[in-house]
Amino acid sequence: MMRKKFVAGNWKMNKDLRETGALIAGIRELMPAPPKNADVAVCPPFTALESAARALEGSAIGLGAQDMSGNDDGAYTGEVSGRMLAALGCRYVILGHSERRQYFLESDELVNAKAKKALSAGLVPIVCVGETLAEREGGLTETRIALQVRGSLAGLTSSEVERAVIAYEPVWAIGTGKTATPDQADQVHRHIRSLLMTQFDSKTSEKIRILYGGSVNADNAAELFSRDDIDGGLIGGASLKPESFHKICAAAG
Ligand code: PEP
Repeated sequence: MMRKKFVAGNWKMNKDLRETGALIAGIRELMPAPPKNADVAVCPPFTALESAARALEGSAIGLGAQDMSGNDDGAYTGEVSGRMLAALGCRYVILGHSERRQYFLESDELVNAKAKKALSAGLVPIVCVGETLAEREGGLTETRIALQVRGSLAGLTSSEVERAVIAYEPVWAIGTGKTATPDQADQVHRHIRSLLMTQFDSKTSEKIRILYGGSVNADNAAELFSRDDIDGGLIGGASLKPESFHKICAAAG
């Protein structure tokens, strides 16, 4: 099955209002439209989403958030709901990023609750999974990924899961400059697809996009994206510079 490639930039806790406008202007200058065969999105911090939405007006580059609440609107101080993100013009939301799992103790159950709320708000959840270095070295990569995929997508229907995106991000490759080799990434992507086949069905497993994330840059993107089961990338550091982000998007298109 031909899946359209997808590149999303995870800006993390970088870029204030002014810097957001400048970065989006820089990206739009180099990339007035996403490449023909790829979707592109940027995911700035919450505080910059509204200005990012304005800066993206008239562009086919999508907007995403980096997290959201697992609850509907109400008495949850500090939280932001899926409905609020959708109202701002967000199409995507990153869920269960390893930094949230590590520093904010997010569990698969919480990621699952968030994924359900995201889908009911009309957002596309980008659900992140990935093993630590100790898990990889201990031969536990497939077990860890299976637990995360099953837990994070529990209780969803096939048609809901088809609207989601999975990002495989080995924790040891995030922000470290150590990229998984295309073979290493491909092997885990195929494992994820086989898990989806068991948990859902073969149509769902073929339809869902699985991104790779972890030190993707302008030099290694094309080789990673050339693999059939790697449907694009979730890009951290290299999404903060228009030149490198543009080159990575071009490699996907
Ligand atoms: C990320 O945090 O999602 C990520 C992939 O970061 P980097 O590209 O900087 O490794």
